[in-house]
Amino acid sequence: VPELPEVEVVRRGLERWVAGRTVDDVEVLHPRAVRRHGGGAADLVARLRGRTAAVPVRRGKYLWVPLRQSGAASGVAEPDRRSGEEAADDALLVHLGMSGQLLVQPADATDERHLRVRLRFTDGGRELRFVDQRTFGGVAVDELGAGGVPLSVAHIAPDPFDPAFDDAAFARRLRARRTGLKRALLDQTLVSGIGNIYADEALWRARLHYARATEGVTRAEAVRVLDAARAVMTDALAQGGTSFDSLYVNVNGESGYFERSLAVYGREGQECDRCGTPIRRESFMNRSSYLCPACQKRPRHPRW
Ligand SMILES: [Zn+2]
Repeated sequence: VPELPEVEVVRRGLERWVAGRTVDDVEVLHPRAVRRHGGGAADLVARLRGRTAAVPVRRGKYLWVPLRQSGAASGVAEPDRRSGEEAADDALLVHLGMSGQLLVQPADATDERHLRVRLRFTDGGRELRFVDQRTFGGVAVDELGAGGVPLSVAHIAPDPFDPAFDDAAFARRLRARRTGLKRALLDQTLVSGIGNIYADEALWRARLHYARATEGVTRAEAVRVLDAARAVMTDALAQGGTSFDSLYVNVNGESGYFERSLAVYGREGQECDRCGTPIRRESFMNRSSYLCPACQKRPRHPRW
């Protein structure tokens, strides 16, 4: 499952390869890949044709490409009167799901077996392909609301890299919860973009147990785990993103390789880099939590 660093790698790839280009045509090869788009495939195609991609935006694991009216429209699309020439009022939202990939391919490259949606551009260069074996992901055109955030993403909290992210407010809201620390970190309405892997890594770096009751977490500890999450995701980003799913590749078709640098995740039985104690794996929310039982002391009154 792609996490924030992987999605950011995809966003950067889109910025490089797609921003500024105008959609000429769209081909939907599987209806399931556009099921989140209210109007269906024909409407999606109509709303993309002739639109120019602006710089892609990410919030947590959500990714969208704001769409502008094109000055030199191909004549296929009816001008959208709701928007001006510059401001984008809707966006192409991309859900990578479990196995979704965006590939930038030469037009004559053989179609991928699980190709779901194809975007061709008016410049005739490389096309953008959404490929998804399991089709949990998909694309949709969504209206942009306050702050240029798509309406379907508005309920998602900013991620820790958002310039508007408020650390003090995060600590306050976290401490007001009645839940476990890791469960809170995974709650996308509190902070977005921290998934299972990076939650475990951040908790290890901050030396905090995942079942700490949030009301007992100090402000300093809350900020410590937040900073640790930023640090581990920054490291991941510098290395091209983590990938545990061989299906995941970034927009240029390269796999991430950050897994070599993880301290606890997927390292059950191996020694903690800090103290040598074997890393333990525990069941958590139908998944796993990895931790060092010495560095991350189990609380007397755990909250799961
Ligand atoms: Zn340790």
